[in-house]
Amino acid sequence: MKLLDKANQLIKKMEECIANPIKPNESARIKVGVDLGTANIVITVLKDDDTPVIARIYPADVVRDGIVVDYIAAVEILRKLKQEIESLINVRLDTAATAIPPGIIPGNVRVIKNVVEGAGFAVSNVVDEPVAASRVLGIKDGAVVDIGGGTTGISVLRDGVAVYSADEPTGGRHMTLVIAGGLGVTYEEAEKIKLDKSKHDIVFPMARPVVEKMSSIILKHIQGFDVETIYLVGGTSCLDGIENIVESYTGKRVVKPYNPLLVTPIGIAIGA
Ligand code: ATP
Repeated sequence: MKLLDKANQLIKKMEECIANPIKPNESARIKVGVDLGTANIVITVLKDDDTPVIARIYPADVVRDGIVVDYIAAVEILRKLKQEIESLINVRLDTAATAIPPGIIPGNVRVIKNVVEGAGFAVSNVVDEPVAASRVLGIKDGAVVDIGGGTTGISVLRDGVAVYSADEPTGGRHMTLVIAGGLGVTYEEAEKIKLDKSKHDIVFPMARPVVEKMSSIILKHIQGFDVETIYLVGGTSCLDGIENIVESYTGKRVVKPYNPLLVTPIGIAIGA
C-alpha cells in the first residue's frame, strides 16, 4: 500500500500543477510526455527528478482504436498545447516521449511519432502505455487495465515487462452511449451527466452492465496468467465504484489509484 501512497501523492501533485504550474529553472532539464488518446490529448511535464511541473488535457477526437484518424488536427492541437505550456513555464519543450497502446501495428507507431514530431518535438522514446502506468504505480507484476475513451488496454506485467497485451474497442464512449440511450438524451448531454458526481445514482446502474461486460473481457484476457491484482487506470476508471464491480466480477484484487486518468500520461514523461 505504501507504493500506491507514493503514486497517489505524485498524481495529486500533478493535479495541483494543472491549476498552478511550477516554473522550473531555465537551465533545468525537464521531461515531457505526450499521450495521444481516443478521448484526450495529454501533455505532461516533469522535472528531471520526476516532480510534476505542468500538464494539459485537451479533449480531441483525432485517434480511434489507436489509429490517428485526423493527422492535421492532431498536430495542430499538440502544437498549440506545446506553445501554451512553453509560455506558461518559460521553458522550451524540445524533446518528448510518447506512448503506444497495447497491440498496435508498426505502421501506426510511425504515425504517432510523426504527429509528435510534426508538432515540433524530437521524440526521445516510444514507451508501452501499460509499462508507463506501472512506473507511476511502482509495480512490476500484475494486470494493468487502462479503460480510456474508446479502448480498454489489458496488459499482464512480469518483472516490469508486458508479457501479454490486448486492446479492446470498449471504453467511456460506450458507457456514454448507453447512458444517452437510457435517458433519451444526446451523446454530449449524456457525457456531461456521466461526469457529474451529483448524478452518480442515475449513472451507476446504467454503467454497471457496461462495466460487467468490460470485466468479462478483462477476465478472458488474463485467464491463463497468474494474476493476483488488477490495477485500474485510464479516465473511465475514475467512475466511483467501478473498482467494486471489476473486483466482484473477476474475483481478483483490484487497486485503483487517485485520478486514474493521469497515471499513464505521467508515466510517459517518467520514461522520457
Ligand atoms: P484511449 O485510452 O481509448 O485512447 P484516452 O486515453 O483518450 O482514450 P482517457 O483520457 O484515459 O482516454 O479517458 C477518457 C474517458 O474517461 C472519457 O470517456 C471520459 O468520459 C472518461 N472519464 C473521465 N472522467 C470520468 C469520470 N469521473 N467518470 C466516468 N468517466 C470518466
